[in-house]
Amino acid sequence: MNVKIATVLTAAIVCTAVAGEPLLTPERYAAECRADLESAAAIFHGLENLQDEKTIETVLKPLNELDILIGNTAGKASLFYNVHPDAAIRDIAEKHEQAITKLVSEISLSRPVYEACLAVDASSADADTQRALEHVLRDYRRSGVNQPDEVRERIKKLNDELTELDQAFSVNVRSDVRSIKLDSPAELDGMPDDYIAAHPPGEDGKITITTDYPDYVPFSRFARNDGKRLELYKEFKNRGYPKNEQILKDILIKRHELANLLGYNNYADYVTETKMVKTPKTIHSFIDDVALIAKVRAEKEYNLLLERLKQIDPDAETVGDWQKTYLEELIRQEQFNVDAKEIRTYFQFGHVRDGVLKLTGELFGVQFRPWETEVWAPDVQAFEVLDGDTAIGRFYLDLHPRENKYKHAAHFGILSGVNGRQLPTAALVCNFPGKDDETELMEHSDVETFLHEFGHLLHSIFAGNQEWARFSGIATELDFIEAPSQMLEEWVWNPQSLSYLALSKEGKPIPADLVAKMVAAKEFGSGLFATHQMFYAATSINFYDCDPAALDLSTTMDQMQRNYSLFAPVSDTHMYANFGHLVGYSAMYISYMWSLVISKDLFSRFEEAGLFDPAVAQKYRRCILAPGGSKDAADLVEDFLGRPYSIEPFEQWLNTPIETGNAATKAIK
Ligand SMILES: [Zn+2]
Repeated sequence: MNVKIATVLTAAIVCTAVAGEPLLTPERYAAECRADLESAAAIFHGLENLQDEKTIETVLKPLNELDILIGNTAGKASLFYNVHPDAAIRDIAEKHEQAITKLVSEISLSRPVYEACLAVDASSADADTQRALEHVLRDYRRSGVNQPDEVRERIKKLNDELTELDQAFSVNVRSDVRSIKLDSPAELDGMPDDYIAAHPPGEDGKITITTDYPDYVPFSRFARNDGKRLELYKEFKNRGYPKNEQILKDILIKRHELANLLGYNNYADYVTETKMVKTPKTIHSFIDDVALIAKVRAEKEYNLLLERLKQIDPDAETVGDWQKTYLEELIRQEQFNVDAKEIRTYFQFGHVRDGVLKLTGELFGVQFRPWETEVWAPDVQAFEVLDGDTAIGRFYLDLHPRENKYKHAAHFGILSGVNGRQLPTAALVCNFPGKDDETELMEHSDVETFLHEFGHLLHSIFAGNQEWARFSGIATELDFIEAPSQMLEEWVWNPQSLSYLALSKEGKPIPADLVAKMVAAKEFGSGLFATHQMFYAATSINFYDCDPAALDLSTTMDQMQRNYSLFAPVSDTHMYANFGHLVGYSAMYISYMWSLVISKDLFSRFEEAGLFDPAVAQKYRRCILAPGGSKDAADLVEDFLGRPYSIEPFEQWLNTPIETGNAATKAIK
């Protein structure tokens, strides 16, 4: 059995280059998918019919092989489905993902395999093995393996339907690229020169601005025309609508039924059980605590925006959500003397990419070298990560927009690193400028996104030396996953680290006084950010912490916006129809802020010792990143800090009076 798996694994390594062979064809990929499914099914059936004594060797290890095989083939399918330029390959990947999910659902409901696992005695095994068995049994129970046959059948059907709904939701967002028309270049007033040059009038004399990020983000920040900004905002917030209204409702209803079948009150109870937060109650109180900590600062910031708006429109009484980014930018320019248009002249795509590699390489003591391999599009680059002379991981950078490509920025795991078996392999998928011309300029926020996603990538690589595939890479609690990536964002706000990333076309480094101003302006908007995030988090938990039959998506989301955000809901928008996290993170959108609280605490150690302090960086790599999911996240953090995590650095960040945060400090412990 092992020999067969090894052959399949070699084939499963993404696009391994063979001299003279053509690029991946749909036929070759389809054959590979079939072979992977057959191999996985063979291991599964072997386990179901196991007659031998049930031991770590006979049960847990083949299950690990199954995890590796399924992880590899699923990782590649998910990547190809989201990025492959060939529609036929995307189509195969989509169907393959459905087939894998079906098989996983079958495995997770297999009573013979569950009973085989129950019979394994791991009491004298090492801690990792004991934990692996514990988690296998926990996951089996949570999948409903204990339920009567007819319930298990229903669970299986629900899981299949949910996979299809999930895919339909994202297709509807991705394919719904909307646009507005500008009558003349005058309506580009306020936009940077290179943006204007990239948006010439079409044959009809009109200029098209789409809802794709490279169009949308700068337009919401710089366009002076309030009406056009609102028009584009509405299009952006309506992507996926109306199709996704019913799809999301169906997802909520089916997940609720699933949770009930498994013995939980609702899906929020089910999904929080294995996270750091543990219960929906913790989420609700954390949301209120953060909202309270951020309130004073958020109101001050809102009033500054309103004051500024009144200079443009003396009759304005409130600030609209579509005006927030634009006004924040004006205030940063005028009151902090920070001009994003000036800042972006220092961020040329090619230099930033090279700088991210140099900076993180020096910080964590590794090197990156080009990896000669086949890629799925000409602008995709591949690298190997070296620790000394040893290759410890590989990754692809797919950083520019392409037709039919994933529209956001994300890290995709492709191969989980398993000790002595396979190197961790991942891809960063982003939508940055610079595809044809590497000197094209990026927003500073793009640079921040780049480092954020690179934080996930490094986590998956440094944690890629595990015995058990289930602990490899970023296989940690969902509400901890963002902490390492959020922490790495801090490096785009420091003069020393910016010296790696910023260089003008004339070869000038970013001036120290500009960095100082950027840092001073950085905090502006953080109160509004925190409260608006609590609106999203409250929507997420309230959609799932109830019986969704009676839920009106629009009413609840609007209500949460009124409860937590200082910006009122904008009529005729339906953000839930494109808010992918409501599907992907379900009740757990809070994960971002929960992770941010922890990342601020982790970063405090670098702040004390210096951003490039090798001892702190190595300890961080060893304690936080390398263990992957082999320990509870709370324990990893305690190993690094020497104490449990605290909300205090987060409170200091928001710079609010200390007494407002006392309740939150209690809640998070
Ligand atoms: Zn992230």
